[in-house]
Amino acid sequence: MIFFAWRAIKMRKIKCPECGAETIWENNEYRPFCSERCKLLDLGAWASGEYGLPVEPTNLTEEELAELEKLSEAKAGNER
Ligand SMILES: [Zn+2]
Repeated sequence: MIFFAWRAIKMRKIKCPECGAETIWENNEYRPFCSERCKLLDLGAWASGEYGLPVEPTNLTEEELAELEKLSEAKAGNER
């Protein structure tokens, strides 16, 4: 049991947020993406404002605003 748990941690798989392909977390310099291509694509979408805050945030509920804030924080964390 311990061995399998250890292996599950070492081989932890994540899903690429860009294309949805499975990729491993360890030793993956492009994480959470599967490849440099996906990383660049996602950063490009982010930079072009696809995920940006709306111009008029007053249309959003407090919950939606909090959600957007969480997303941008996670995003900023990924880049460090
Ligand atoms: Zn990908």
